[in-house]
Amino acid sequence: MQQKLTGTIQKVNPINSRLIEGVFSCQYCGELTIIKQDESLEKITEPFECGNDVCGRKNCFKLIVDRSTFVEEASFVLLVDNVPIVVHVRGRELINKIPIVGSMITVSGNETYRRNSAKSKSNIFNKIVIADEIIEIGQNDRFMEPLNIISSSRSIRERLKVLRNIIKELQQKEKGGVKVELIISKAEEAGIRKETIEDMLMKLRSAGEIIEREENCYRVV
Ligand SMILES: [Zn+2]
Repeated sequence: MQQKLTGTIQKVNPINSRLIEGVFSCQYCGELTIIKQDESLEKITEPFECGNDVCGRKNCFKLIVDRSTFVEEASFVLLVDNVPIVVHVRGRELINKIPIVGSMITVSGNETYRRNSAKSKSNIFNKIVIADEIIEIGQNDRFMEPLNIISSSRSIRERLKVLRNIIKELQQKEKGGVKVELIISKAEEAGIRKETIEDMLMKLRSAGEIIEREENCYRVV
C-alpha cells in the first residue's frame, strides 16, 4: 500500500547489502540455480532441489556471492505522532538523501510486512515502509547532531545545548577562546558531570558548533 508519512528521524542505521537474486551452486554436480529472493522474509531462499535431473539433490547449495545480485539498503526510524516506523531505503542515490537525526521529513513509499528471520514460523511481522522519495522539510531541533553521535539520547543533546550556551555566554567577556577550566567550572555549576565534559566538547567540535581557538580554548562558531 502506498503511504505518505511525515515525522522526525530518530535513528539512522548503517548500510547493508540485501540479496535480491541468489546464484547457488550444487556442491555435488556444480549445477547453478538462480533464485529470486522473497523480500517479505529476512531469510535466504535456497533452491528446493538441484536443477540437474541426474543429480536432483537437496540441501547441498552454496551461494556464489560474486555472481549474485545485491542492493544497498539502509534504514532509519521515523517518529510519526510518537509511533516509531522503520523506513528502508534502497540504492546509494536515495540513501545519500537520508537527512541527519532530528530532521523532519516526508517519506513516500510502499508499506509492507517483513517477518523476522529468527522466528520464521512466527506470526509477528514487522511493518516497514520502503521509501521511494524523501523530502526534507525542516529540523526539529535547533541543535543538530552529526551522524556519528546519533545514538545520543535526548538528555545528552539537551546537555550539549546547555554546554554550548555556557561557552557562548563566557566568550562575550573573553577575547580569544574560553579556557577549558572555566568552561568546566561553569558547566559543573549547571549540573554537568566533570568527567563527561571533555567528551561533550569533542562532540560539539565535530558537529562544527565550537572551534578550538588555541590549545584548550574554545569558541562557539
Ligand atoms: Zn546437483
